[in-house]
Amino acid sequence: MHTDLVAALDIGGTKIAGALVDGHGRILLRAQRATPAQEGGDTVMRAVDDVIGELTVSPLWNRARAVGIGSAGPVDASAGTVSPVNVPGWRDYPLVERVRKAAAGLPVELIGDGVAITAAEHWQGAARGHDNALCMVVSTGVGGGLVLNGQLHPGPTGNAGHIGHISVDLDGDSCPCGSRGCVERIASGPNIARRALEGGWRPGPDGDTSAAAVAEAARAGDPVAVASFERAAQALAAGIAATATLVEIDIAVIGGGVGKAGDVLFVPLREALATYATLSFVRRLTVAPALMGTDAGLVGAAAAALSRNPSATAAGV
Ligand SMILES: [Zn+2]
Repeated sequence: MHTDLVAALDIGGTKIAGALVDGHGRILLRAQRATPAQEGGDTVMRAVDDVIGELTVSPLWNRARAVGIGSAGPVDASAGTVSPVNVPGWRDYPLVERVRKAAAGLPVELIGDGVAITAAEHWQGAARGHDNALCMVVSTGVGGGLVLNGQLHPGPTGNAGHIGHISVDLDGDSCPCGSRGCVERIASGPNIARRALEGGWRPGPDGDTSAAAVAEAARAGDPVAVASFERAAQALAAGIAATATLVEIDIAVIGGGVGKAGDVLFVPLREALATYATLSFVRRLTVAPALMGTDAGLVGAAAAALSRNPSATAAGV
C-alpha cells in the first residue's frame, strides 16, 4: 500500500531545491535549479515552476497531498508572500498563490528557512526529543527558529526565532537590517573573516579568506583567528542566553558552515554561555552542533506541510 507524500521546496539565493518526501522524511524524488537571483521576479518564478514541473511529471506526484515551502526571508506566511534579501526581484512576491497554481491546487504551507531547518532538527536531528529548542544557522547570515512546548513556533508571519537580528551590542556596528550590534553582524562567517583580517590575520598561499580558513588557523593556534571565533561565540552566547531567559529553551542547536568549526567555536561558546546564562532556570541549557545535512531545508519544509495537513501520513512530526 502506498502512503501519502508531500512536496517540499527549499528556496534560497543560490538554488531552488524541490523534493517529494514521505511521512518518515525520506526524499523519494529531487529536482533543482540555480536561482537567477539578480533577474526579475517572473524569471525567478520560472525556475520554481521548472522544479515543480519535474516533480509533477513523476508518477509519484499522484500521492502528493500538500506543498511545504521554506524560503529565504523575510517571509510573510499570513499574506503568503516573500521578500528574500538576496532576491531583489521578489518583494512581497505572492509565492504561495503561484506555487498553488503550479501544484494543481494543493494546499501550500510557507515558513522561513530558519524555521524550516528548526523543523528538520526537531523531527530528525539534534533537537529531537526536546520540547523547547532554539535552532540556528550560522553561515553567510545568521537565522534561526524555535520549538516551544513540543511544537514548531513559526509565529504569525513565519519568522519567529530570527536570532541573527537581535542586538547584543548596543552601540555596535550598523547592520544591513537597519539595527546595530546584531548577532549576525558579529557571528556570521563573513564577519568572522572580516574581523580576523582587520586584526592582522593573513590567509595561506591559497588566498582563502573564508571563515573556514580562519577556523583552520584558529585550530593551529593563531591568536587573531582564535580571538575572532571567541568574539563570535560571545555574540551567539548572549543571543542564546537572552532567548533561553525569555522562553526557557533547554537546547540550542547550531548548524551552517560556521557551526561546523567544531571546538574553536563550541569551547568558547560554552564558556560564554556560563557568563550570560546565569539564572537557575537557564543554567542547564546545552548547545549542540546540528545533525541534519544539506537536506535540512527540504526535510523541514516537508515537516511543516505534514504537520498542517494531518491527512498526509505524518510519522512523528
Ligand atoms: Zn541586523
